[in-house]
Amino acid sequence: MRLYSTNNKNNIVDLKTAVLNAFPKDKGLFMPCQIDKLDPRFLSNLNQYSLIDIAYIVSQNIIGDYIPESDLYKIVYRAINFPAPVHMHDAGISTLELFHGPSMAFKDFGARFMAELMSYFLRHDDRETTILVATSGDTGGAVAAGFHNVPGINVIILYPSGKVSPLQEKQLTTWGDNIRAIEVDGVFDDCQSLVKEAFLDNSLHEKYTFSSANSINIARLIPQSFYYFEAYKQVMDLGKDIVFSVPSGNFGNLTAGLLAYTMGLPIHQFLAATNINDTVPSYLSNGHYEAKPSVATISNAMDVGAPSNFTRMKHLFGNDSSTWNNMKNIVSGYTYNDSKTKIAMQEILKKYDYVADPHGAIGYLACKDYMLTQNKNNLHCIYLETAHPGKFSATVESTIDQKLKLPLRLSEFLSKDKKAYTCSKQYKAFKELLMTI
Ligand SMILES: *Cc1c(COP(=O)(O)O)cnc(C)c1O
Repeated sequence: MRLYSTNNKNNIVDLKTAVLNAFPKDKGLFMPCQIDKLDPRFLSNLNQYSLIDIAYIVSQNIIGDYIPESDLYKIVYRAINFPAPVHMHDAGISTLELFHGPSMAFKDFGARFMAELMSYFLRHDDRETTILVATSGDTGGAVAAGFHNVPGINVIILYPSGKVSPLQEKQLTTWGDNIRAIEVDGVFDDCQSLVKEAFLDNSLHEKYTFSSANSINIARLIPQSFYYFEAYKQVMDLGKDIVFSVPSGNFGNLTAGLLAYTMGLPIHQFLAATNINDTVPSYLSNGHYEAKPSVATISNAMDVGAPSNFTRMKHLFGNDSSTWNNMKNIVSGYTYNDSKTKIAMQEILKKYDYVADPHGAIGYLACKDYMLTQNKNNLHCIYLETAHPGKFSATVESTIDQKLKLPLRLSEFLSKDKKAYTCSKQYKAFKELLMTI
C-alpha cells in the first residue's frame, strides 16, 4: 500500500511510515494512492459475512499484500472484538450503536486497530515510541484503553481543561503506567496545534520518537469504514436507499464513510451533522471554507472549528474546481444548537423509547430534516450513535428527567483518582513540560 501527502503528490510513503509518522513534513495528510472497488458479489452478499470477515476483506482491499494475510487477520481479530448493532426505530430510521467497545465511543474501532497496527510495525524496534494525542473527549480514552501497558509505547494525552465531561476526564487521567495526561488551559484546537508543533520541532526528537493517534492517522480511518458495511448489511433486506447521518467534529468518521463509498458501498447520501461549530455545513452551503474558533456545546466531542479531515474529504472529491459540486451531491450539511439537541433527545425517548446521547441526537435531527425534503418511502436513514449516553450522564439525565444506569465499564472510572499535568496553550510552556516529564 502506498500513500501520498495531500500537500505534495510526489511525497509517497508506505503504510508503516504513514502510521508511525502521521504528520508529513510538508504538513499535509496521508491518503491512499489508490482505493480499489470491492467485488460486487461481496457487496450484494454482505449479510452472509460476519463483522470480522467484513473488517478483514475491507482492510485487505485497502492495505493489499503489504501485511501478510494471516498477520492482518490477527490484527483485525484482536482489534474488532465487540459488535456494531443497528437498533431499529421504525422502517425509516435506525441508529448504529458504535459504543460497545472498552471506552464506549466509536473511537474504540480506530484506536484499537491503530494500537494493533503500531505494535505490529514496532515489534522489532528497541526505541520507545511516544503517542502524542489531542482529544476533544473520547479519543483520549479510547487510545488509552488501546495502548495501556503495551510494551515499548508511551501515551501523552492533551485535553482542554473544563471542556470534557467529568467521566471523560476520568477516562483520560486515571490510568497511570505508560499513560499520562496533560490538562491544557485552552480549547481542543489549541491542543491539536500543540501536538502538531511538537511533531515538527526537531529539537524534541532526541528525547522522543513521536507518533500521532489523532484522526489524522490513517490507521484510525481504515477501521472506521468497516461499520458502514456492517450497518448496511443489517438493513439491506429493507430494499431501500440507505442514508448515513454522521454526527461530526474532526470529520474522521464521515471521511471513513466516504472511503466505504469509494470502495463501492452503495450509500445514497451522507448527512454531515454538526453542532453550532458548522465549518463544514457552511462550506457545503456556500462553497467557502473558513475555519473558526471552536465554541463549547453539550455535544463536546464535536466542538471543532478547524476539522483536520476536511482536506481528505476534498481529496476524495478530486481537490479541484468541481470538488464543491461533487461533494455536495453526496454530502448534505446540517447544524443544530444545544436547545434543539435537547428537544431531540426528549423526542427520541418519547417516540422510540430510546436514550440517545447528545451527539447521536444531532445525527437524528439531520435524518429527520433530510427525510422531510425527500420521498421518504424509499429511504432508510441510519444515524450513528457515536457514544454511550452514560458518558454524558449529567446532560442526558437533566434533559430527559430520568436517571441512567451506568454500565460497569464506565462507573468503575468514577472512584479512581485524577492525575494530570497542567499546561498553558503556549507552545513554549508545553515544550518545557515535555522536556521535564
Ligand atoms: C469524536 C466524536 C465525534 C466526532 O467524530 P469525528 O470523526 O471527529 O467527526 C462525535 N461523537 C462522539 C461521541 C465522539 O467521540
